Amino acid sequence: MSLGEFDLIARYFGRPTRRAALGPGDDCALLALRPGMQLAVSCDMLVEGRHFLPTVDPRRLGHKALAVNLSDLAACGAQPMACTLALALPRVDEAWLEGFSAGLYELADAHGCELIGGDTTAGPLNICITVFGEVPVGAALLRSGAEPDDEIWVSHAIGGGVGDARLALEAFRGQVSLPGAVFERVRRAMEQPQPRVALGLALRGVASAAVDVSDGLLGDLSHLLRRSAVGASVDVGRVPRSADLAAQPLSLQRLCTLAGGDDYELVFTAPEAAHAFVLEAARAADVAVSRIGRVEQETGLRLVDADGQAVERVWSSFDHFSA
Ligand code: ADP
Ligand code: MG
Repeated sequence: MSLGEFDLIARYFGRPTRRAALGPGDDCALLALRPGMQLAVSCDMLVEGRHFLPTVDPRRLGHKALAVNLSDLAACGAQPMACTLALALPRVDEAWLEGFSAGLYELADAHGCELIGGDTTAGPLNICITVFGEVPVGAALLRSGAEPDDEIWVSHAIGGGVGDARLALEAFRGQVSLPGAVFERVRRAMEQPQPRVALGLALRGVASAAVDVSDGLLGDLSHLLRRSAVGASVDVGRVPRSADLAAQPLSLQRLCTLAGGDDYELVFTAPEAAHAFVLEAARAADVAVSRIGRVEQETGLRLVDADGQAVERVWSSFDHFSA
C-alpha cells in the first residue's frame, strides 16, 4: 500500500528543526528575527518539462530546486535561514522521494537553511520552494545601485566560467556532441549549480548592485542596468568560459556564455576603488570573479570584442511567454 499524505510528509520532509522557533507539523512555522535584521524572501518554481527533464536524477533535482532559490538570497547578500517546499507529485514513488529529499536536505544543511514547512498535493510534478534569509537593515544588495564607471564582474568556479549549463542543454537537445567525460561535467553544472551564498555575503558593503544569472548573463545584467537607470559596455572576450566550452565554435561559446541561463552565478557592479575588496571577497568565498565591463551613463548594453570592435547582440534571453 502506498504511503498516505501525512506519513509521506513526516517521513521525507518532517525532519525536526533546531534553529527555527517552530518547524513542520503545525499550521504555521515560526521564525525569530534578530534585532536590526530584515527578512529576505524569494520563491522559485520548477516545472517538469520546462525547468528540468523527466529523466533527471531526483537527488540532483532536490539540490537544484533549493539551489536556484539560495542563489536569489546570495544575490541579495542575505544569510539563508529557512525554506518551505510546495510539492505536487503525480504518484508516491518512495525511491524518488528518498533521493529528492536527500539532495534537498544536503544542500540545506550546507547553508544552515532549515525546511520549516510546505504543502503536498497530487498533480503534475511541480516543485515550489520559498526561502527566507536575513540581512542587516539597509545592507541588502539590490539591482538598483549601479553607478556610471563602476566595474562589472561575474563570479564563476575557479578554473571554470559561465555557459556550461547551456552547453549541456545543447548536448541534450542533440545540437552538439560532446565526449562522455565533458558531457558528465557540464551536465553536473546544469543539474547541480552551486549558489554563491558566501560571495553574496562577502560583497555586502563592497558591491553597488547585484543579480544572479538564471536567464542568461546579458539578460540578467540588463535587468540590473534598467533598475539602476544606467547602461554598460561589456567586453565579450573577457567573459570567462571553461576549457571545454572554449573548445567549441565561437558562435556557440557566445550563445552559451552570454545568453545561456541556468548559471546561478552572480553578476555585480562595484566602484573601481573597491577592486581589491572584490578580489578579497572572492578569495574569502573560494570562488573566482572576472571583470567583464564597465557601467556607463548612456542606457543600453554595448558589446565589444577583444579588439574593441562592436559585437552585435543576436541572442535574446529566456522569457517564458515570448519563447
Ligand atoms: P494545512 O492543511 O494546515 O495547510 P498540511 O496538512 O498541508 O497543513 O501540512 C501539515 C504540516 O506539514 C504543515 O506544518 C506543513 O507545513 C507541513 N508540510 C506539508 N507538506 C510539506 C512539505 N512538502 N515539506 C515540508 N513540510 C510540509
Ligand atoms: Mg496545506
